[in-house]
Amino acid sequence: MRWSNLFVPTLREAPGDAEAVSHALLVRAGFIRQLHAGHYSLLPLGWRVHNKVAAIVREEMDALGGQEFLLPTMHPASIWKKSGRWDTMGEIMFRLNDRRDNEMALGITHEEIFSTVATELTSYKELPQIWYQIQLKFRDEARPKSGLLRVREFSMKDSYSFDIDSAGLDKAFEAHREAYIRIFDRLKLSAMPVEASSGAMGGNSSVEFMVPCDAGEDDVARCDSCGYSANVEKATSALPAIEDKPGPDQVERFATPDIRTIEQLTTFEGGAEASRQIKTLVMVIDDELTLVILRGDHQLNEQKLLDATGAVAIRQAGADEILSALGARPGSLGPVGVEGLKIIADEALRGRSNMTTGANEDDWHVRGVSIERDVTVSSWADLRQVTSGEQCPLCEAPLRLVRCVEAGHIFKLGTTYAEKFDLSVANAEGAQTPIVMGSYGIGIGRNMATVAETHNDDNGLVWPVSVAPFEVVITTVKNDETSMNAAVSIYEELKRRRVDVVLDDRNARAGVKFADAELVGIPYRITIGPRALKENEVEFTERRSGETSRIGVDQVVDFVTGTVNDAR
Ligand SMILES: [Zn+2]
Repeated sequence: MRWSNLFVPTLREAPGDAEAVSHALLVRAGFIRQLHAGHYSLLPLGWRVHNKVAAIVREEMDALGGQEFLLPTMHPASIWKKSGRWDTMGEIMFRLNDRRDNEMALGITHEEIFSTVATELTSYKELPQIWYQIQLKFRDEARPKSGLLRVREFSMKDSYSFDIDSAGLDKAFEAHREAYIRIFDRLKLSAMPVEASSGAMGGNSSVEFMVPCDAGEDDVARCDSCGYSANVEKATSALPAIEDKPGPDQVERFATPDIRTIEQLTTFEGGAEASRQIKTLVMVIDDELTLVILRGDHQLNEQKLLDATGAVAIRQAGADEILSALGARPGSLGPVGVEGLKIIADEALRGRSNMTTGANEDDWHVRGVSIERDVTVSSWADLRQVTSGEQCPLCEAPLRLVRCVEAGHIFKLGTTYAEKFDLSVANAEGAQTPIVMGSYGIGIGRNMATVAETHNDDNGLVWPVSVAPFEVVITTVKNDETSMNAAVSIYEELKRRRVDVVLDDRNARAGVKFADAELVGIPYRITIGPRALKENEVEFTERRSGETSRIGVDQVVDFVTGTVNDAR
């Protein structure tokens, strides 16, 4: 490839809306262009990187025995209704109607479609199976942003395992876990496997692969001492026990004029510190008004509430809904004496007494509240968000919250889909047995963006050799005949040795060509300049370190081929 024929529209400035480094650099360096919010065109350099990421994923999937498919991306609504997810996916799913008014969806994931194919499995002898595809998915994100990190249309590898029993699933899950670790290693991403919520995917166990990165949207609670790590949607911590002083025999009302917050009540005379207050949230959980109570100094994690209730949608109740249900406004709400509403309590409140909370009358609170005695708790759950510095649940060392990008997610689905789609095979005794499934995802574009996000410097992108758009650029300082002859001969020989090389033969100033090569992030540059050439030498520069050395024209091909092969 000659740069003079390449379409690489580099820009001096990043787009104004680029918050993430990867977004800014991929646009500036001419890899991607936005068509509309959340939808990007991959330009030739972007597509080259994309294909290299996909090739690594494909190799590792093939190595664990995966068989590649390509399924449709437009699905009939009926198949999603069969699994129940037509209703539970909510607004995140793109839906449309065809000319006959048939309802359709654009695929957000493919459990349903692969399950339909799997109905043709009939005997345990055909199991296990691992099926995968690399294909487009659609998600109607509320706020697409950060370039390729959060989009509405994206390429993903999704695979599915089909086994006769849970031991088989464990094996397929472990094989994927190991394959993902190899994939991230080859992408030079320091991804850590963490415990995660299974969310809308269903099933009972999942592991996310998280890459520490400021542009991420997830927080992982991590213990540096024992290695415990979990998404805050799932993480717990050990709380020091609180001893409550004996309280009164029954709750006491007291006036709290203009006191509206937990914080205000901590300094109000007769109030209480936050850990001795009950925080009362009024939530609408799948259309049912519900009280959610936590310790005053704790925050609700909404995903935990979703997981605990199995709900599809939750939202905070509006002021009018709250007033008509409880007779008071936020700031004076509490669970004491509430009848007819479900009350979900966080585990940290278990056994607590002598606590303070709102009286469900504006400007009044109650104290001396004993949870067990005074509150009709419908169910208990771990709902609180873990914060930095709390104790590790395993070893009690302090936890640290790390901002991360989710680079992959693997799920044990169990028999959820077998039940919905009547997936069963005859076992060795001839009895019908439900198929046990797993589901495993890794975003191609997102991983490309995550590599860009974590591999760059002031001059631009610094791709690892494994996914760089080109491994080597040959840059001519002057395009005189001697320089061009030397450049073309090195170029041809490197191509012959299967090095992915581009020849920057543009009639431009050397400084411009160097800056472009750095911005684009090509790992190695061979510079052909008249001065060195007179001594039968060329310059070799490593993008990452910026180090330059002279190499003889006769040795450069061997040296570069060896360097590239070692780094692949
Ligand atoms: Zn620990």
